[in-house]
Amino acid sequence: MTNIYYQEQVLENIARKVLCGYDSALYYGSPAAVPIEEMIEAHGVSLEYQYLRKNGRILGKTIFDEGLEAVYDMENREYTLFPVRAGTILIDASLCEEDASTGRLRFTCAHELAHWILHKKLYTGTGRSAAMITEQSETILEIQANMLGSAILMPIAQIKRCFYQLRGGRQDGQLIDDMADVFQVSRQAMRIRLTNHRLL
Ligand SMILES: [Zn+2]
Repeated sequence: MTNIYYQEQVLENIARKVLCGYDSALYYGSPAAVPIEEMIEAHGVSLEYQYLRKNGRILGKTIFDEGLEAVYDMENREYTLFPVRAGTILIDASLCEEDASTGRLRFTCAHELAHWILHKKLYTGTGRSAAMITEQSETILEIQANMLGSAILMPIAQIKRCFYQLRGGRQDGQLIDDMADVFQVSRQAMRIRLTNHRLL
């Protein structure tokens, strides 16, 4: 399997195309939360919410080949096999339980969509899937999916627009909170995005 490394600017351009392909207002309009679940479905990818592991260790998984996936049946407390078709993103249902997880849920969706966009050719036919595991070692593929996921959820043109609109009279902490609210991402994800672009 050959790893292709995309430069950051290339990933920003891919994000812009993906966003504008769905709705150019997401890039050029007023800053707002990106409808990531609808965008995934617009790529012809099905979203399924299941308990992927008993302990919540896998947050999301992109399926490139049809098959059976083990999912956890909370009621009967056992793993069962769930049929999936190629082009499915599985999201851990635990992320839907609390409002506090909205940022993680959305980031997981964006990360998995990024795998679909960047790595479909690498994985299809291999029987492997791209899983987002908590605290996993950061391989190049994972770093790239995180970078593209961030660029989709926090379009750079919108981040700059929102930053200059909101920064007057706010301390950094308040600015991060308010911007995280606008884009419906975690404070941590927003802080990283702003720092990477030297806005903080
Ligand atoms: Zn991943």
